[in-house]
Amino acid sequence: MAKQGIFDDAIKRLDEAFEHANIDPEALEKLKHPKAIMQVSIPVRMDDGTLRVFDGYRVQHDDTRGPTKGGIRYHPQVDLDEVKALAFWMTCKCAVVGIPYGGAKGGISVNPKELSRMELERLSRGFVQRMADFIGPDTDIPAPDVYTNPMIMGWMMDEYSKIKRIHSPGVITGKPVEIGGSLGRGDATGRGAYYCIKELEKKRGWKPEEITVAVQGFGNAGQAVAKLLHDDGYKIVAISDSQGGIYSKDGFDVPSIIKTKNDSRQVKAVYCDGALCTAVPADTVTNAELLELDVDILIPAALENVITDENAKNIKAEIIVEVANGPLSSAGDRILRDKKHLILPDILANAGGVTVSYFEWTQNKAGFYWTEEEVHQRLQAIMTREFNNVYDIMERKKIDMRTAAYAHALSRIGTAISSLGTHAFFSNGTH
Ligand code: NAD
Repeated sequence: MAKQGIFDDAIKRLDEAFEHANIDPEALEKLKHPKAIMQVSIPVRMDDGTLRVFDGYRVQHDDTRGPTKGGIRYHPQVDLDEVKALAFWMTCKCAVVGIPYGGAKGGISVNPKELSRMELERLSRGFVQRMADFIGPDTDIPAPDVYTNPMIMGWMMDEYSKIKRIHSPGVITGKPVEIGGSLGRGDATGRGAYYCIKELEKKRGWKPEEITVAVQGFGNAGQAVAKLLHDDGYKIVAISDSQGGIYSKDGFDVPSIIKTKNDSRQVKAVYCDGALCTAVPADTVTNAELLELDVDILIPAALENVITDENAKNIKAEIIVEVANGPLSSAGDRILRDKKHLILPDILANAGGVTVSYFEWTQNKAGFYWTEEEVHQRLQAIMTREFNNVYDIMERKKIDMRTAAYAHALSRIGTAISSLGTHAFFSNGTH
């Protein structure tokens, strides 16, 4: 699907969920329009002395349930339409897990792999200089996303604190632990997905060693879910990153692949020129082939729209866990739904990240920090509760899991919007 129209495609899902949510139509209308959009130009002095200007975006989608929250992405494909869609998903996600936030997202159209570390720092600080009046610990709180990491969050927090002349760790989450980050934030997105899969395991009664898994995208989220599943005995038979993928029918030793990937920065090193070349027997697969492998669980953990009406009919995995945001177009989703695949939707499956970001913000506000075990326990409690809430709605209403998750989110957002009054209230006229 052309990238144009991701936001329109994303909000189509609201209409489908509306009939199951029992909320006022005004709430639905409100959610179809982002609250505020900021577009900026960020001039950066490059190491060779030249000036480059980058486009940056921040979209605040809805703040009825609390300050807006959402990551910042550095990717050449970032544009306003994509950021709007990602902000919308954040509103829904925060409502699914019941944390007191609305949704936002930001991004810079850049290939960060082409920048030096100093250029990256200047770009990140430049983004905050432009956005400082738009974000804040009680208004809009960014976090990491694709190709942004704890150090970048640290630079952004530092820049914001300098501009405001007040130490403000709560302005951003996903920071290094030493400067106000939370223990357990690093693997929280993958861990949240893992807790969902464990709940499904209980319902289905399968044995982990019998289950094969393919993971597309081997960054923060993909690595964490692959490692936790591998530790439990699941067979991770395929892994990929932007350069391509590897396949082994007997499953990989995930920790050693994580090490090789992180030392070399490419999964490719595992099969082309890394030390594991001989230690890990592997065939190569393209990213497109990985999606169509005959596995039990497919985990897209890279970018959006990788499964569309063009390849959905070839997908064999019975269960798809959307760790990436929006990996299925709505047309692709419809095809898989008709084929009775079970899809754990992104707004539930990857909500572990924002949940622990919420814990980080809470700890920053309190100035009191939790143990990693405490973070894991609280995350597991929330993910387990909301997985089962969504699963119950799916079974009770005989709808797919995505529609159930949206209905669940809409109920929470819709009642929040109605609590401030709707047409039905104001037209009644009596107190
Ligand atoms: P990341 O930058 O850590 O990793 C991204 C990975 O995807 C890298 O391994 C990269 O090589 C790979 N990749 C990039 N383009 C690819 C392509 N065309 N095909 C296959 N692989 C490709 O990013 P991340 O934080 O792990 O985010 C991954 C996804 O998870 C995104 O959709 C993001 O929005 C979503 N997500 C992340 C978080 C979080 O806390 N980091 C939270 C919720 C959702």
